[in-house]
Amino acid sequence: MQQTRILLDEHEIPTHWYNVVADMPNPPAPPLGPDGQPIGPDALAAIFPQALIEQEVSAERWIEIPAEVREALTMWRPSPLIRAHRLEQALGTPAKIYYKYEGVSPAGSHKPNTAVPQAWYNKQEGIKRLSTETGAGQWGSSLALAGQMFGLDVRVYMVKVSYEQKPFRRSMMHTWGAEVLASPSDQTEAGRKILAEHPDSPGSLGIAISEAVEEAASRKDTNYALGSVLNHVLLHQTVIGQEAKKQFEKVGDYPDVVYAPCGGGSNFGGVAFPFFADKAAGKEVRLVAVEPASCPTLTKGHYAYDFGDAIGMTPLLLMYTLGHDFMPPGIHAGGLRYHGDSALVSQLYHEGLIEARAVHQLATFEAGVTFARAEGIIPAPESNHAIRAVIDDALACKESGEAKTLFFNLSGHGHFDMAAYDKYFSGELEDFEYPEQAIAEALDHLPKVGAG
Ligand SMILES: *Cc1c(COP(=O)(O)O)cnc(C)c1O
Repeated sequence: MQQTRILLDEHEIPTHWYNVVADMPNPPAPPLGPDGQPIGPDALAAIFPQALIEQEVSAERWIEIPAEVREALTMWRPSPLIRAHRLEQALGTPAKIYYKYEGVSPAGSHKPNTAVPQAWYNKQEGIKRLSTETGAGQWGSSLALAGQMFGLDVRVYMVKVSYEQKPFRRSMMHTWGAEVLASPSDQTEAGRKILAEHPDSPGSLGIAISEAVEEAASRKDTNYALGSVLNHVLLHQTVIGQEAKKQFEKVGDYPDVVYAPCGGGSNFGGVAFPFFADKAAGKEVRLVAVEPASCPTLTKGHYAYDFGDAIGMTPLLLMYTLGHDFMPPGIHAGGLRYHGDSALVSQLYHEGLIEARAVHQLATFEAGVTFARAEGIIPAPESNHAIRAVIDDALACKESGEAKTLFFNLSGHGHFDMAAYDKYFSGELEDFEYPEQAIAEALDHLPKVGAG
């Protein structure tokens, strides 16, 4: 019998996180302050603990995972690497398809991999509360879980449209003891300002970030936690790719191509960066970030300094962006809606070291359904983006007769996203390509500082 599930023991959970900065050909572009000058680490001290700020700016290749964090990760790690024999058969492809399944975490996605260390470091530095934003709810529920594990209070600003459409993610956050507010809320100046201008605002990740950052900056006992984009978040996610490399070793295989859905870049960085280390050392491996055509940050955005939030409270990051006031189209059900992208992922893409692909919504759900019918697991809509790209390439292998090894990160399950699947089955979802005109306009709103 051929091996399907490739498993590791608990002691094989990585002992260190891998920092891609050590292997990048150029140092990362520095974040800038409002005056256009690079900010020092101190500028972040009002909202982040020292240990995470150090990780944010570190160039060390390996950063040790604290013993207590590794122990907490055993709640669901190591996650399985699975050979998709049944999907290969269904497609009739000679390609070998593998996926790392991050849906085994209690929150159902990869996000607890960073929520746990973030909560732990904050706890070490005497912080009592964490504020954060959440879009579809995966990050909010992951931080709620981590806060519960280490005895921290968690307040989540949830994008209003999701707050109304995804009541069960709200229930998960409540179950793990977090407080959840619809954003824009009347609890912050940022929220009140948006509500005054747009009383019916459906909210956006950028707005919710503004609210959560404002709260953390104005309270000494409270820090902010971000679920993607920042360097330390991608760092924590590298347990995924490191485990995967060990698992491939066990079966004597290695991927030709690594794929991940890409919103802010954390699950892409998490799975792909450890393989980038091999690429930097001369090995041939392609790394592909897959994003929605309706929020095409890497494939159509500008590489420029922009704010991380909607109203310009955060430092400026050099990244691919659709403009910080980008409002994602309401018809888009598949997540990955952030206007920007990780600075590390953006720089590697800008330097031609990784690839990006945009896929349409209907095709992603079609791929997700094909996957679920073959492999059993119902994927998160975000994960469906990577699955679309993998299926397309597996079908191309069928044409060419090539037996490539394709590997993707199945970043989460879709059990709390069945309303999106319902919409797909009832024909309510449409394809939407973000208009060139809107992208051009966004450029006008970019802050006029820095290079890029
Ligand atoms: C958040 C999330 C993503 C996107 O991750 P990014 O770090 O924003 O790229 C993908 N899949 C699932 C299941 C998620 O919860």
